[in-house]
Amino acid sequence: MTTIDDRLRQVRARIASACARHGRDPAEVHLLAVSKTWGPDAVWQAWQAGQREFGENYVQEGVEKISALRALGASDLVWHFIGPLQSNKTRAVAEHFDWVHGIDRFKIAQRLSEQRPPGLGPLQVCIQVNLDGGANKAGVPAAEALALAQQVAALPRLQLRGLMCIPEPAPNFAAACRVFGQLAALRGQLQAPLSGLALDTLSMGMSDDLEAAIASGSTLLRVGSAIFGPRAYASGKEK
Ligand SMILES: *Cc1c(COP(=O)(O)O)cnc(C)c1O
Repeated sequence: MTTIDDRLRQVRARIASACARHGRDPAEVHLLAVSKTWGPDAVWQAWQAGQREFGENYVQEGVEKISALRALGASDLVWHFIGPLQSNKTRAVAEHFDWVHGIDRFKIAQRLSEQRPPGLGPLQVCIQVNLDGGANKAGVPAAEALALAQQVAALPRLQLRGLMCIPEPAPNFAAACRVFGQLAALRGQLQAPLSGLALDTLSMGMSDDLEAAIASGSTLLRVGSAIFGPRAYASGKEK
């Protein structure tokens, strides 16, 4: 039977070999284990195998898992909220998570900043960009990213770290690189000297396209099924 430990090793080997092939420093490519739909025991197994950063899509499920892992004595985990976020759920996210990847509206960012408890450090955030404009409607259009980034960067309790995208699955490596390359180029534009923005994060690449994401400059891979196995219920369900 393939264990989480085995699969994590395989994913790390894929990352190392893609970094070697594309001239990337492996220290610049972080692995986020997307544990949505999996119970605290699965997170605990990944934690024992050395994994520290975890991604969750559903607020209630994530908050319960964060408490469960704390009760198990795992205190050094970093939790990323990577799902769609409605304004009535921002408080729980501001109180329990370390990162939020899907910022695409100023109103949501403003609430997160207001609701971030004073005892915690600033919430780390990425702006989600909609590159293909297709079925996946979350994310701000590339042309509006700079204006939103400047507004978000000015909020006192948030730290803007970079850009994130969830493109439609691409038919091949070259096509995936073209889309990911657009996000990398956009980061370059937003960092232009006069903007005053410092963006160290490109959150892109999942189980099926992490090699193309690494080739295109990803610094944060969000990998679920390649680590935990196939999910029992489909992504996109809001709990
Ligand atoms: C579920 C999910 C992932 C992980 O997808 P896999 O294909 O299982 O690796 C990554 N990012 C987001 C935003 C997700 O919702």
